[in-house]
Amino acid sequence: MRLCDKNIQQLLTFTIRMTFRLSNSKLPDVKTTIFTEMSLLAQQENAVNLSQGFPDYQADENLIKYLGNFAKQGYNQYAPLFGIKELREEISRKFNLQYQVDYHPDSEINITAGATQGIFTIISAFVEKGDEVIIFEPAYDCYEPAIILNGGIVKNVKMFYPDYEINWTEVKNLTSEKTKMIIINNPNNPSGKILKQKDINELISIVKDTNIIILSDEVYESITFDEKPHLTLAQYPQLKERTFIAGSFGKLLHITGWKIGYVCAPSDMMKEFRKVHQFNVFCVNTPAQFAIAKYLQNVDNFKTISSFFQRKRDYLKNALQETSFQLLDCEGTYFLSANFGAISDAKDKDFCYWLTKEHKVATIPFSAFYQDKTDEKVIRFCFAKKQETLDKAIEKLLKIKV
Ligand code: PMP
Ligand code: GLN
Repeated sequence: MRLCDKNIQQLLTFTIRMTFRLSNSKLPDVKTTIFTEMSLLAQQENAVNLSQGFPDYQADENLIKYLGNFAKQGYNQYAPLFGIKELREEISRKFNLQYQVDYHPDSEINITAGATQGIFTIISAFVEKGDEVIIFEPAYDCYEPAIILNGGIVKNVKMFYPDYEINWTEVKNLTSEKTKMIIINNPNNPSGKILKQKDINELISIVKDTNIIILSDEVYESITFDEKPHLTLAQYPQLKERTFIAGSFGKLLHITGWKIGYVCAPSDMMKEFRKVHQFNVFCVNTPAQFAIAKYLQNVDNFKTISSFFQRKRDYLKNALQETSFQLLDCEGTYFLSANFGAISDAKDKDFCYWLTKEHKVATIPFSAFYQDKTDEKVIRFCFAKKQETLDKAIEKLLKIKV
């Protein structure tokens, strides 16, 4: 759905009006997200929107047809709180097929309203006042507010341009009895980096003999490039026993607006998750769950997604190599990022505004993914776009003068 200015203006007015009535905000530093801000600006400026991560092409018509059919057939009432069995079974089968990992569909898998709700519910179910949670920056935006709302304390480990490697010594030093959770995002939004075996080994050694819970946000698990494998934490028994995996069909099936995701975890952890989930959302969209379950029965419907996105990544990458952007190595996700230092000295957010207004291409500044707004002059392009959109953007980006 395209955002309309009127909605945003109403939202902002509401926020301002509430400020007069409330003396304290539970999230004083939180503003409207950068994804909303840049998509709105793109719309206002009539710019090509490579900012917020969503495909601008239609999902497979079979999937859409299934959705309509299930709604017509009367699958329109509450789904079970765990999610429909058919979908949980397909997720279980997919884990087994792709990673040779077993999750029991009844006790270890739950369907969620997108990964966002799964992540919020996991954090709410486990993080208590004073608990420390380690996150890695640049960090996707939904972790920190959820931790703070539950009284937790965010401990940041920063990753830096150009490698965005995790400094495991720093992680080790930050870990104590107060550490309740470590949140991993692999493949990483926005850097496009994926974890390697050496990273996994470090993580295993850090959590060994602790009660630390891991939340592994793997929403881009199916999008890795150049034959590099996605290493799900579920593959490692020492990690699986303490890990929640969060996934999303938005990415796998090009349907971010359906907001259907899932979480997987050992049954004792899932039990606690469900205590919160049942009051947080209770259950999620019924016909969409049936449609996805039917669609996943055919493995051909999702097994080529990496090559589909690799073609798009390569297309954008080859074109941008003709510009003065310094491109990051994108190993996964549908984001290609670049340093613009050779083009401008501006702050990254100012540069994104300038690029949108002057060159009509909207992107996301990396500083938005750091609590202290670390600015290394890096911006993110989303390439989950139809050819025509990428061509339009490329044409404009090639005109930037240094
Ligand atoms: N985690 C990451 C890293 C994301 O990029 C996103 C959004 N694309 C989400 C979680 C949320 O996924 P969903 O849209 O399924 O809520
Ligand atoms: N995950 C999307 C991105 O990174 C944004 C989703 C949202 O707007 N909340 O662009």
